[in-house]
Amino acid sequence: MSEATHDEAHKGALGSRLNWLRAGVLGANDGIVSTAGLVVGVAGATDDRNALLTAGLAGLLAGSMSMAAGEYVSVSTQLDSEKAALAAERRELSEQPEAELEELTELLEQRGLSRDVAREAAQQLTERDALKAHARVELGIDPDDLTNPWHAAWASFVAFTVGALLPLLAIVLPPSGLRLPVTVVSVLASLFVTGWVSARLGSADPRHAVLRNMAGGALAMGVTYLAGVLLGATGA
Ligand SMILES: [Zn+2]
Repeated sequence: MSEATHDEAHKGALGSRLNWLRAGVLGANDGIVSTAGLVVGVAGATDDRNALLTAGLAGLLAGSMSMAAGEYVSVSTQLDSEKAALAAERRELSEQPEAELEELTELLEQRGLSRDVAREAAQQLTERDALKAHARVELGIDPDDLTNPWHAAWASFVAFTVGALLPLLAIVLPPSGLRLPVTVVSVLASLFVTGWVSARLGSADPRHAVLRNMAGGALAMGVTYLAGVLLGATGA
């Protein structure tokens, strides 16, 4: 019995670490695609390194801050509802402890314990830390380890920035004639990697994920490049 709980706890911790890693890879992927589209589009219109640097840097900052703000809002909302659920649970535990003990017993029975063992386990868990037991078994959250919105925001900011730096450096560093080929090749290569890694982390078939990911990036660069060339040609 304790073996199963042990395994499950491990799977939970590993699962959430993998989710974080996957979110990081996807954030970097966003940074690569959106900044690549931006700088390649500007490169279609001008060869001026300062213009490319300005556009790329502005795109990097705007993108990473918008990702961080979005993440902050979404995790804060999740945190609010988790806190509300914990408060409700705390109230129920103090108002109707018997019903809550029965509820915990039934939840443990559903997980495969016999009635007697479930009752015994529920009693022990309740004596030790009733709120924590209900939070974990009933709500699926750990009250000692709620997601921090600031951490989540910072992680998104860093992930996007790391991704965005790649096309930015690739378009700014090489000499004029090599900018586009260097950028296109390094962007597609890095999208190969992020597509493969995120598919593996999500246990999906990497080949399809890689192709879709690279096609998405190629499309973004193609469309913005065309727009840049057209705008550059009209002298707008
Ligand atoms: Zn409960």
